[in-house]
Amino acid sequence: METLTTNELCVTTNYTKGSEMKCCLCKAEIDKKYTPDGEMYWDQGHNPYPVTDALEDRCCDSCNQSVVVPLRLSLLMNKEVHDAPAND
Ligand SMILES: [Zn+2]
Repeated sequence: METLTTNELCVTTNYTKGSEMKCCLCKAEIDKKYTPDGEMYWDQGHNPYPVTDALEDRCCDSCNQSVVVPLRLSLLMNKEVHDAPAND
């Protein structure tokens, strides 16, 4: 129970805190988020899958909301349509 999987180790060491992250979609710098105390708690961007599936790709807040989430939703909807049992 106490051992980290290889995957978890990879995720925590793959990105260096404090380095600049660029959005893989719009190439803008990914926003950093801070607590009210001024401590940065989020600078890693979002996972752009399925827009891209490269492990190192990250995208910014705005691309996540305008591109990634709608694509995920539409894939989900299509899947549900295909999986739904036919009525009549
Ligand atoms: Zn972006």
